[in-house]
Amino acid sequence: MTADSFYGEVLADHNLHPLHKHELECATHCCKGLNPTCGDNIELNLDIRGGVITDGSFTGIGCAVSQASADIMLELIIGKTPDEAKHIAALFRKMIAGEASDEEIDELEEAGALQSISKMPARVKCALLSWNTLEKLIDEK
Ligand code: ZN
Repeated sequence: MTADSFYGEVLADHNLHPLHKHELECATHCCKGLNPTCGDNIELNLDIRGGVITDGSFTGIGCAVSQASADIMLELIIGKTPDEAKHIAALFRKMIAGEASDEEIDELEEAGALQSISKMPARVKCALLSWNTLEKLIDEK
């Protein structure tokens, strides 16, 4: 499979069957994120207990890239500590800037499918929206 078809497949899969798009009543933290350039609007909910992100979800509306990116991000950060989540967010940002090494992209697991965004300037803000919201939530916690 080429990188581009993998990108399309992952995007479609997370939009048709999001794993983490739902309300989360037990959430200890929530934060809204907005990308006015595209109209993406998400709310991120995290349940942080005992220093670990034990659960998380998002709600909202937006383009395929912003929605898939949020779903993939939650898949990666649930079960991690806030510091580990910030490390993953920093790697993701580096990848989108086109500056990550192959090892770093491997560390991003499925999020690595979004690496072609680094060549699509118009989509960068969409891909980063959930990650920006995550960093804001953790810093304000
Ligand atoms: Zn968007």
